[in-house]
Amino acid sequence: MKILVSNDDGYRAQGIRCLKEALSELGEVTIIAPDRNRSGASNSLTLEVPLRVFEAEPKVYYVVGTPTDCVHLAISGLFDFEYDMVVSGVNDGPNLGDDVLYSGTVAAAVEGRFLGLPTFAISLCTEATSGRHFATGARVAATLVRRLLASPLERALILNVNVPDVPYGELKGYRTTRLGFRHRSEHVVPARDPRGRTVYWIGPAGPQQDAGPGTDFDAVAGGYVSVTPLHIDLTRHAALDVVSSWLDGIHD
Ligand code: MN
Repeated sequence: MKILVSNDDGYRAQGIRCLKEALSELGEVTIIAPDRNRSGASNSLTLEVPLRVFEAEPKVYYVVGTPTDCVHLAISGLFDFEYDMVVSGVNDGPNLGDDVLYSGTVAAAVEGRFLGLPTFAISLCTEATSGRHFATGARVAATLVRRLLASPLERALILNVNVPDVPYGELKGYRTTRLGFRHRSEHVVPARDPRGRTVYWIGPAGPQQDAGPGTDFDAVAGGYVSVTPLHIDLTRHAALDVVSSWLDGIHD
């Protein structure tokens, strides 16, 4: 089995190295990841400039581009064979609730949706004072790959996995979850550049708002691995009729 591994933290990140090591027991692993941290890149593609791919070491490639660029290249012609699965991570930080919309980690997994097996994004819920147990995340990833091989899910399914930042033995188990959501994010933070001009930093994500039972936030807070099945269709089906009547007679 050929497993493509990517992330949004860059090809040198601790999480992707741990992931490669853990998955190497299950198949042939290739890393293709951004040259640097591209967290928050979401599903962006680089269209105005060409992409350059560098081989850092055998089976480890980096791209001056986004996570989506990386996976897109890998499954659309960079290699003369097909991968079976994309695993993205292990991200340094949670991707819970609305984080999923901004996440490059999730985007890399989403870009692998046309392959034969489900793909997943895996994030370690690191905090300033937590232990950075990337090996825990990598071991969870290997467990999920084994389960997918033994018991395949439908094609094109994307799993968003969040792992508490604890030693593996302290995990409570697995929970299937829905995405919770956050309050509005914090304000942007103004600062001055060396020439006295005002610049802005994007502020931190908002605190959790819907983090009740059944959500990804709740599972992780309870010490469980959270597994959320995602789909790409953002259509709000329940609003189709309302919007249709709202448009009635708008053009005569
Ligand atoms: Mn990241």
